[in-house]
Amino acid sequence: MLVVGGYTRVSDTGQTGDGRDGHEGVVRQREDVYGLAQAKGCTVHRIYQDNDTSAYKRRVQRTDFEMMVRDLEHGVISGILAYNIDRIARQPRDLERLIDIYEQARRPMLFATTAGDHDLTTADGRFQARIYVTIANKFSADAARRVARQRLAEATDGEPHKGQRAFGWKNLEQVDDWEAGLIRKAREDVLLGKRVGTVHREWAELGVRGPQTPPGRTIGYSSVLYVLRNPRLCGYRAYIPQEVRERSGRVDPVEYLVERTDGTPVRGRWETILEPEEWRELVNELDARKSSGNGRKKGSTVTKRLMTGIARCALCGTGLSSGTYQRGTVSYERYGFYYYCRAADGGCGKLARSGPPVEKHVENVLLDSLRTQAHDVKSAQDDGSEAAEAKETLKQIEADKAEARRLRADDLFSLAEFAREIRRLEEKEGRTREKVATLVSAPRRVGSAAARIVREWETYTVEMKRREMTRSIEAVVIKPAGKGGAQRGAFRPDLIEIVWK
Ligand SMILES: [Zn+2]
Repeated sequence: MLVVGGYTRVSDTGQTGDGRDGHEGVVRQREDVYGLAQAKGCTVHRIYQDNDTSAYKRRVQRTDFEMMVRDLEHGVISGILAYNIDRIARQPRDLERLIDIYEQARRPMLFATTAGDHDLTTADGRFQARIYVTIANKFSADAARRVARQRLAEATDGEPHKGQRAFGWKNLEQVDDWEAGLIRKAREDVLLGKRVGTVHREWAELGVRGPQTPPGRTIGYSSVLYVLRNPRLCGYRAYIPQEVRERSGRVDPVEYLVERTDGTPVRGRWETILEPEEWRELVNELDARKSSGNGRKKGSTVTKRLMTGIARCALCGTGLSSGTYQRGTVSYERYGFYYYCRAADGGCGKLARSGPPVEKHVENVLLDSLRTQAHDVKSAQDDGSEAAEAKETLKQIEADKAEARRLRADDLFSLAEFAREIRRLEEKEGRTREKVATLVSAPRRVGSAAARIVREWETYTVEMKRREMTRSIEAVVIKPAGKGGAQRGAFRPDLIEIVWK
């Protein structure tokens, strides 16, 4: 007598209302398995059951499924029984793992569902099973996408995230004073040079726990880092699509701020812990550490001027350093500081220029350029009729797919017809999406970013300004003033050459 395993699974997405979910559903699925076993005349070794999980969510481990695969591989069982095939394998890759085992087994094997058997040892059986699983996967993906779209709608609306509270808040809206205090203190400490590792150690000593900290433990290092980078701190809303989350695990929310069409971030309706500038400053500091990792900590206490290293000496090409005029002098009163070619840095030592006028000039030119970018994109968007048309096509495809699904549900489409139709629509969808992407999203992102930088420029810290500047400017070459000097005379923009990237 063939010994088989029964598989039952309660899923939370994409169900078609077949009464096989929830507690009663499991009981029914088990009954299905035993009924099948009786009809096939085989013995059920055990029931493998994964509860309240979705095979579609790839990162979710189905422990009993894994055990069943092992048992099948090792010959503990020689078959699987289930209510239907998508209970067993929602992902094509699950099915492929099973197929491998069935193909290599040198013993009689069974793969049976209440909807029929699949002989995975033959090409026909495998083909059929693959189609079923592909379609089931598709339904599930659609359902997941619907949920994702709903979440995005809430995100752009500034609704607080559903579910768990975030560190720093008592609930979805109200600040937790103690945790918020820890965050503010940590921000100040980090900006003064404290390492996140040290903050983590201090928090651990205080017994700090995050919303996801396992019982008996204190908050982990990566959670501390995540807490400090959380856009929620200043009311910004991030939205990380489910697919991205599943693909990459913990994702940096800073990369996924929800913006309005004009490029301004969506602000949530909850109490905030930091001001947007404060938060940006913190994130910039953390980013800067990431990029200059390798222990290269030269002169961390020296404040970098806006153009240190960006401005270069036209005579020798060395990046300029900055110095402060002597107190009490006219230059000190007027300008405060200057840039100069420093011999100790390998420069010629022959060039110096007052700082503020140079900075003002370069900032103005940069902002003008950004304004132009923002404007160009705006006008390019105005004749976006082609994009609008493509979007209309996408809507139509969505409707066609829904129609196909309805026809299939009513049995007016055969499985093969349905599969063919869905594939055709998906190909069309893919092509249209590509088109939309090239028409709209790429330039708009750039444009909205440029508009945002212009708007927020005055609130930027020196470090932030430097970062934006080096994105588009390779160097600012300062030419010598010649006789008479530029120091005392009027500011001469012709002595400043901006080298764009
Ligand atoms: Zn020089």
